[in-house]
Formats: sequence, structure tokens, C-alpha cells
Amino acid sequence: MSLLELDAVSKTYRRGQEVVQALDSVSLSAGFGEFICLLGVSGCGKSTLLQILAGLEPADSGAVQIEGQPIAGGHPNASVVFQEHGLFPWMTVERNVEFNMKARGVGAAERRSVARDFINRVGLAGFERRYPHELSGGMRQRVGIARALTTRPRLLLMDEPFGALDAQTRSIMQNQLLDLWQDYRATVVFVTHSVDEAVFLADRIVIMSPRPGRVRSIVPVAQPRPRDRADPAFGQCVGEVLGLIHDDLRHLMGA
Ligand code: ADP
Ligand code: MG
Repeated sequence: MSLLELDAVSKTYRRGQEVVQALDSVSLSAGFGEFICLLGVSGCGKSTLLQILAGLEPADSGAVQIEGQPIAGGHPNASVVFQEHGLFPWMTVERNVEFNMKARGVGAAERRSVARDFINRVGLAGFERRYPHELSGGMRQRVGIARALTTRPRLLLMDEPFGALDAQTRSIMQNQLLDLWQDYRATVVFVTHSVDEAVFLADRIVIMSPRPGRVRSIVPVAQPRPRDRADPAFGQCVGEVLGLIHDDLRHLMGA
């Protein structure tokens, strides 16, 4: 049994006269502890797919199972990290990190101790009483990741979590995420539109294409970790993936 199974998942949005088929018969599976990147241009349904996995949006048809159970209104073993604005601005770092545990009825003493552990683990000791606006973008995303991990999810869903960060911070965050993933062994579904990021992070890259959103191809990344961007094999993999999304890029640039 895999941790995650999607079978022929479709989703259409209707806004007035406009009909958008965000996902057209998407099938996908992920093994226990696997790191999957969903890669594709804007509008190919990546966020929609993540919202469905998180139980935040229903699929129109098809089946989604996590650990063999259909998802309905969220799954107790899944946590989400969003790109930005994922934190409650009126709550301190500590309260933000405690939030998912509080929502699940974890008592105050345990919340505090688990939150402290994860705040330390992501390198934010000393910032417990700060508010999100007092932190850098990278620090805010570390708060979001700490919060997501406190409930020990078996499935971690991340929607372009590093998309708004500068290149150097982004690279630091990618390495930190891989360390956490290796420690906690969650299955990760990570959305990105960066080919470099996908090749650096993923066990398998699921390349999606737009209008309608479909899985175009799935590319396994065989390189051992830690991966080295200067390694010719890394560049070769980037080139292979770029080739596969080339048509979509051309389309976007109006060629
Ligand atoms: P991605 O994350 O890959 O950019 P999305 O899943 O956000 O793609 O969007 C897929 C398509 O569905 C896009 O054409 C988008 O405009 C449309 N869409 C997404 N969410 C909604 C919504 N709530 N209402 C109407 N259309 C939507
Ligand atoms: Mg998106």
C-alpha cells in the first residue's frame, strides 16, 4: 500500500460563464517517506491538487486515499505549509507553532513543550515572543514548517513555500527542509515552479501541464543526497526536465 493514491481526480471551477478545468483525470501515488515535487507553470492545477489532498477542496470525481482511507474534510495525518501569509499575524511565533496542536485538543503544557522543541529545531530559539511582521521571510516559513511538524504528520503538503524568498535564503531553507524530512520521515508533496528546486529536492518530479491540468510526465531523480548543483549530472537532470516543460514555456511566452 502506498501512503497516497490519487486515481483519476478531476476538478472544474465555474465562475459565472467561465469554466476552468483545473484538473483532468490526475492519477498519482506516493510511497511512505517519499519526497514528491509537483512542477509546472502557473495555472496547471498544482495548488488545486494540494488543496484536494489537504481536504480543503472537494474533487469533482476520482478517488483520493491517504493510508488507504478516503479523505473527507481533511486528514488527521496531513499538514500544510503555504507560500506566504500562512501565519496568524496577531499571534506570536510560539502561539502560531502551537496552533495545530491546540486545534487537535493537545493540552497547554504539552503544546508548550512540543512547540519549544520544534522552534529550537528550526533555529528560532529566542524568537518565541516575536510576531510574524518582526521576522524575515525565511524565518516566517520556518515557523510555518515547525507548526506543520508538531502534529507529526505522515503527509506534509507544501505549496511554493520558498517561492517568495531570495535565492540564498531559499537554498538554506531547501537544505533545512531535507534535514527535517530525513529526521521525521514524512511523505512530502512539494509544489514549485522552479526546475532547479525540484531537481534539488525530489525523489520524483511530477510535471504538470495546463489547460486542462494534467500530469505530463513523472521523472525520478536518482542522484544521491546531498545533491551538488555543480555536478554535471545535476545539470543534465535540469536539462531533461526543462525539455519536458519546454512546450508549456513556449506557449506561455506566446511563441
Ligand atoms: P497553479 O497552482 O498550478 O498555478 P491553480 O490550481 O491555482 O494552479 O489553478 C488552476 C486553474 O484553476 C487556473 O486556471 C486558475 O485560474 C483556476 N482556479 C483556481 N482556483 C480557482 C477558484 N477558486 N475559482 C475559479 N478558478 C480557479
Ligand atoms: Mg499555485
